[in-house]
Amino acid sequence: MVEDEQRLAKMVAAGLTAEGYAVDLAHDGRTGLSKARIGDYDAIILDIMLPSMNGYQVCATLRQEGIATPILMLTAKDGEYDEAEGLDTGADDFLTKPFSFVVLQARLRAMMRRGRSAAAAPTVWRFGDLTVDPATRACRRGGEPVELTSKEFSVLEYLASRAGEVVSKSEILHHVWDFAYDGDVNIVEVYISNLRRKIDAPYQRASIATVRGAGYRLAADGG
Ligand code: CA
Repeated sequence: MVEDEQRLAKMVAAGLTAEGYAVDLAHDGRTGLSKARIGDYDAIILDIMLPSMNGYQVCATLRQEGIATPILMLTAKDGEYDEAEGLDTGADDFLTKPFSFVVLQARLRAMMRRGRSAAAAPTVWRFGDLTVDPATRACRRGGEPVELTSKEFSVLEYLASRAGEVVSKSEILHHVWDFAYDGDVNIVEVYISNLRRKIDAPYQRASIATVRGAGYRLAADGG
């Protein structure tokens, strides 16, 4: 999220974090641009009025550089800035300030879903009898719902998005936790072990393989 109103930025970040997203904040355009260039983000929430570089310029620069991360632009109510200009720069959606958190979250989710379908990813991932639904953040084994915390789900979702591939601990860490997390990378082990206890052990399955020295792999057949 690129937003110079720090209170608003912190509030949105706290809300999204509670929903299981990993959120990085930038408070000016240039910082936002450089984070967007190096980070592997699912979405960017971008204010228009920003110090150092405005939202239009950030958006246009990212698109010129071929970075296609979905962008939700925050526009002011007075209509001083217009959506047409934002669309020209390559934004995916707009939200007028002030907005409710619930609406922001719905728009963000819809935008990310569209982003995913553009990449031809299925709405619900199926691995044998294991299903992972990113839209509802629900997981099932053999049709039975499996209760996961939002962080556990985020780890599983990331493994699912790359099923059959070896995914390193640091890749999981960078995708699911934010830049501010400076703890031990081994936190990932804790979440993998929780996931195995919930989606595998009760069903005598082994869907998440440990690849020694490399990371983890979710079996495409569900284990
Ligand atoms: Ca602003």
